[in-house]
Amino acid sequence: MIEINGVSKFYGTSQVLKNCSVKVERGEIVVVCGPSGSGKSTLIKCVNGLEPFQEGSIQVHGIEVGDPKTDLPNLRTRVGMVFQNFELFAHLSILDNIMLAQKIVLGRSPAMAEAKAMQLLDRVGLIDHAKKFPSQLSGGQQQRVAIARALAMDPLAMLFDEPTSALDPEMVSEVLDVMTGLARDGMTMMVVTHEMGFARRVATRVIFIDQGEIVEDRPSEEFFTASHNPRTEAFLGKIL
Ligand code: ATP
Ligand code: MG
Repeated sequence: MIEINGVSKFYGTSQVLKNCSVKVERGEIVVVCGPSGSGKSTLIKCVNGLEPFQEGSIQVHGIEVGDPKTDLPNLRTRVGMVFQNFELFAHLSILDNIMLAQKIVLGRSPAMAEAKAMQLLDRVGLIDHAKKFPSQLSGGQQQRVAIARALAMDPLAMLFDEPTSALDPEMVSEVLDVMTGLARDGMTMMVVTHEMGFARRVATRVIFIDQGEIVEDRPSEEFFTASHNPRTEAFLGKIL
């Protein structure tokens, strides 16, 4: 589903991704972790074409992301992305937030877009909040709306960049629960997170990246029990 092959990326002369290769099969949940500044966000932004890269190739569902002929806006509608800071449209109701791109990008009728939005709000446990505005919701609720909004586009895969790191601790699990449900339903996901409980329970593989380099890529159980790489151990020692 997602194939990253030998990708290198530079900002000017500084190299932030070094020959990275990752393969994510359909239905896999790959957690990406690593120290601050190691290149996690850059890596997943490359996957949906939000950041260009200079070497290597990335294919999503057979679409060549780095090909100048690729329709990146179209690709982005097929790959959902959820960020740390929700980024909902503040002036639109929750319902309208989830309907907007369905109508504009996919050309769905208002009735169809609304039906889809309500179904997704039900799924993330927010059906009673449809008419509210983002500022009237907690951070955890806003993040669940952001997930519903991405799902409304029927994405082939979902990318998450630290979806719970801006949340108060008591709201983290409600968002992780929604993500766990998605994983159980077979969604293909790449998740940047330091929630190692989630990684252990839900991920099929865990990738550790340090200074732009993929240091480990292992089945999740093995990552926690069998990695003896000193860089991984140092990192896990700090966050566990
Ligand atoms: P964090 O855990 O803090 O979110 P990260 O692993 O997501 O970190 P990135 O944001 O991908 O790291 O950044 C990787 C490197 O690229 C860092 O050294 C960062 O300073 C650098 N970088 C990121 N964006 C830019 C930019 N627009 N211009 C120059 N350098 C950048
Ligand atoms: Mg980041």
